[in-house]
Amino acid sequence: MPILVMKFGGTSVATPDRIRRAAKRVGVEVAKGYDVIVIVSAMAGKTNELVGLVDDISPLYDAREYDAVVSSGENVTAGLMALTLQEMEVPARSWQGWQVPLQTSSAHSAARIEDIGTENIAAKFAEGMRVAVVAGFQGLSPEGRITTLGRGGSDTTAVAFAAAFEAERCDIYTDVDGVYTTDPRICDRARKLDRIAFEEMLELASLGAKVLQTRSVELAMRYNVKLRVLSSFEEQSDEAGTLVCAEEEIMESNVVNGIAYSRDEAKMTLISVADRPGIAAAIFGPLSEAGVNVDMIVQNISEEGRTDMTFSCPTNQVARAEKALEAAKAEGQINYHELVADTAVAKVSAVGIGMRSQSGVAAQMFKTLSDEGVNIKVIATSEIKISVLIDRKYMELAVQALHDAFGLDKVA
Ligand code: ADP
Ligand code: ASP
Ligand code: MG
Repeated sequence: MPILVMKFGGTSVATPDRIRRAAKRVGVEVAKGYDVIVIVSAMAGKTNELVGLVDDISPLYDAREYDAVVSSGENVTAGLMALTLQEMEVPARSWQGWQVPLQTSSAHSAARIEDIGTENIAAKFAEGMRVAVVAGFQGLSPEGRITTLGRGGSDTTAVAFAAAFEAERCDIYTDVDGVYTTDPRICDRARKLDRIAFEEMLELASLGAKVLQTRSVELAMRYNVKLRVLSSFEEQSDEAGTLVCAEEEIMESNVVNGIAYSRDEAKMTLISVADRPGIAAAIFGPLSEAGVNVDMIVQNISEEGRTDMTFSCPTNQVARAEKALEAAKAEGQINYHELVADTAVAKVSAVGIGMRSQSGVAAQMFKTLSDEGVNIKVIATSEIKISVLIDRKYMELAVQALHDAFGLDKVA
């Protein structure tokens, strides 16, 4: 029988009633003749609660135990979903990551999927089971420990299952009815896109649009998975939601197709660094070893052999970055006067494949922000995106102003 993957995010399984509603959606697909792999997240708020408990007990936690704790929310929903389906007389059972098994790297809390064993689930389908409910977000390391795939990782579990089982489609059910030109929660003029290109979705996800985890888009692109985002709260047709697909499958498109933001950014400046060959390596080497995800980097013009070096990283990595740089300074690898952390910044980005062939987008972006009185602190560009770091208090204003300036509420 053809296989369908259906993933339900936290808000879609937040209560028994919502689990029943989701299970009904699954029942509809089973009735159409699909064998279904359901991937579930933890109930809304559960993973945050578990992370909070770990932080309370052990702020500099052992990542293996962190994963053992935070992966547990998904176990509950997987069991509850299987029970709900059984109540509806749909043959179903739950699977935790290790039971599948879903093998990952040993990078705890950010593990990568390495292999999905299809035999166990396939054998159950062959025996007449119609739905395999799999706990998202979790896997098994080569050392036999439970791993997690990073926040939002159930999206990646879903796409990886769709690829491994050659599913007809991977449907991501969430609390919005598709991918929008920007987060509809902060811009009421945001427009739902019927289709979005893999490359654009990849940029939007990696720049903060949390509707899909970045890695899930990467996998969908690599394995050509038909990936759809849709609402679990509305009745759905086969054309509902947003299809993430190859660029060639999209007819109409603007130059800029999306605005993304990331709230939790910090701007770190090393003041008066001795400027010499190898200085960037001496700074960013220790940061990388400490696991700091450095994003934007700016080196100022040097005066009398000294310069300022600025970079951005997630706010929750500031302490780790400070520790790594102070250690490198104490060991004499780098020499700087002061390290200043600005944790009240946000990143706002404009994304569009059309930027490859059209100039002037950056200029329009800077002009728009300037007209709103928003000061730009750091700029970064790539072929299809422009990102700026600004004061966090202007983030929503910037997103809305850019959405208007690039005319995203309609197709040009
Ligand atoms: P789930 O729990 O289902 O995985 P998430 O909270 O991870 O859901 O992702 C859905 C949320 O992503 C939406 O509620 C929305 O606020 C946010 N979001 C951010 N950018 C976008 C966008 N461009 N389009 C749609 N949703 C977006
Ligand atoms: N429950 C996990 C999280 O909140 C994984 C997911 O929902 O995708 O990050
Ligand atoms: Mg999510």
